[in-house]
Amino acid sequence: MKYTLIPVALMAAISLSLGSCGNKGKLNTDEMVAFERKVPNENQIDRFGDVQVLGYEIADWDKLSLNQKKLVYFLSQAGLAGRDIIYDQNFVYNLEIRKALESIYENYKGNRETTEWYMFDEYAKRVFFSNGIHHHYGMDKIMPLFSQEYFATLLKESNAKLSDAAIEAIFSTDKYMKRKVKDAGVDIIVASANNFYGEGVTQKMVEEFYAEMIDKSDPRPIEYGLNSTLILKDGKLYEDVWKSGGRYGAAIDQIIYWLEQAVTVAENAKQGAALKKLIEYYKTGDLKIWDEYNVLWVQATEGDIDYINGFIEVYGDALGKRASFESIVQITDFEASAQMKKLADNAQWFEDNSTILPEHKKKNVKGVSYKVVQVASESGDASPSTPIGVNLPNNNWIREEHGSKSVSLGNIIASYDKAGGSGMLTEFAHDEEEIARVKEFGSLAGKMHTSLHEVIGHASGLINKGVGQPSETLKNYASTLEEARADLVALYFIMDPKLIELGLLPSDEVGKAEYDTYIRNGLMTQLVRIELGKNIEEEHMQNRQLVAAWVMEKGASENVIEKVVRDGKTYFNINDYTKLRMLFGELLKEIQRIKSEGDFEAGKALVENYGVKVDQDLHKEVLERVKPLDIAPYSGFVNPVLVPVKNDAGEIIDIKIEYPKSFIEQMLDYGKKYSFL
Ligand SMILES: [Zn+2]
Repeated sequence: MKYTLIPVALMAAISLSLGSCGNKGKLNTDEMVAFERKVPNENQIDRFGDVQVLGYEIADWDKLSLNQKKLVYFLSQAGLAGRDIIYDQNFVYNLEIRKALESIYENYKGNRETTEWYMFDEYAKRVFFSNGIHHHYGMDKIMPLFSQEYFATLLKESNAKLSDAAIEAIFSTDKYMKRKVKDAGVDIIVASANNFYGEGVTQKMVEEFYAEMIDKSDPRPIEYGLNSTLILKDGKLYEDVWKSGGRYGAAIDQIIYWLEQAVTVAENAKQGAALKKLIEYYKTGDLKIWDEYNVLWVQATEGDIDYINGFIEVYGDALGKRASFESIVQITDFEASAQMKKLADNAQWFEDNSTILPEHKKKNVKGVSYKVVQVASESGDASPSTPIGVNLPNNNWIREEHGSKSVSLGNIIASYDKAGGSGMLTEFAHDEEEIARVKEFGSLAGKMHTSLHEVIGHASGLINKGVGQPSETLKNYASTLEEARADLVALYFIMDPKLIELGLLPSDEVGKAEYDTYIRNGLMTQLVRIELGKNIEEEHMQNRQLVAAWVMEKGASENVIEKVVRDGKTYFNINDYTKLRMLFGELLKEIQRIKSEGDFEAGKALVENYGVKVDQDLHKEVLERVKPLDIAPYSGFVNPVLVPVKNDAGEIIDIKIEYPKSFIEQMLDYGKKYSFL
């Protein structure tokens, strides 16, 4: 499972309509003039289409030993070695097209200051960003805005080669239009443009093939179909397995080479054993060995370095069987870990001092262990567009018998937070004091909120004897209410002097910054992620509006939060932070009661009355105010470059980090270093 950010809705709609210009064939002059290159702000590496490209930093790199640095380096190379695979998985002509685009960038001597070049430049970047010619998120084909004639000139003058079939794939307005199709009433395998299934394979064939193969009584089933292309040969279906000596073998051999290097510097025996098992899996393609590997991987928890490498998530396949290649290399976030440990050590104090009813308090509460990591390198499905959290392995029986590892990608999230710049804050904050406070303490407040939410929030509270689990009692409202409960624990305690006493916060200004941000987001700014006229469906968003709207209403008689309209613009100003804290505590007590007693009706009323419906006038206003800020709906990242420093004998004596300044340079560099297919 991976967790991603929801894209900003408004701009996504705009960019789609821009993309569809290409559907009409040749552009007229008006449209040519209308095309504008986007300019990145000071926090962005690049900005094109509906995307912003950011960088992320690795803090505390020098706290790692030389062997740990080597381990990170070898694992990152093992990830990048598989980069070609996802291009081919996504679409049969992707690799060929990517190489032609690279060649044009390298060799085209013509004018690079024309509108058509800018259009080419944007198209190519969008293809690199999506690991192919279909949008990384929406799955629609990215239509070029330049003409086919212009493209032919570029190819010719760059000495680049591209087959007629691939050129047709780029420009055709009725072929390969979507990478993954899930529509009812069509053959979703035939209609999907991805390359997971061979020519002539239909949905019915796939379903019958696996119905026959899968033994439903097996308590420990493998992930059928995970690592192969299903092809039709002599009228029979056949799994063309991705392994050394098999399909993608040339890239997989490179992955194996780097994993073997990693084994030599493993931090401990368990980590080494897992790495060896992964190598065995890549050599055999045996999914039973993949399961054995995952058991070892989930048990290897002691090192500071961890990684994800393999064919893992199945979001790209319409039938959810075949997995895209991905890799993430992670380093423990030492600072965040220390902070969480302090909270966990004091979990009982928080439980005892919570506002929930005494009979709902745990006598022996344990903080939830929650891991924040720093990403050091990403590849495949995780790059350039990245998740912000990952929970693996995916195979259910392994999760049940051996547990799972859940990580939050701390430096990625921090980079996202910075990327927006102060545009949103300046537009929606009520006054200068609020802006100054968020600028100074906002980032710390956000991190502390997350820690409290995860470590203390989800751990807190007791369900009454005989009352079932929330998924049974509160049904479809369970997760929204659980997220609200955990948020409320965080909001209540972030203003508690205990956190200052523990040395975790410098003053209650941090709590105030969090309150301002939370109310502003819950009542206004999060609405940028929803299309006008739609309800809130995502659980975290429902919970934030629920909490903010409830305290707004309950505090109205005392003007705890004031709605201010200035020059036709709405603001929410908190007049009394102490009373607001009491209201958070009150709602926490009620939601805990709902959970403890399994009170479905009360839970439903809270979510439906406060969390779902959107104030249409305010929503419209928010979308209009956000438009001039030109926020990118999607984000992605360049990776830091890890550079080995060698002595005269050729031994690695250090690994240095360089931060790339250009997205396209990194893409071209990857193309040169990691083209194995
Ligand atoms: Zn949560």
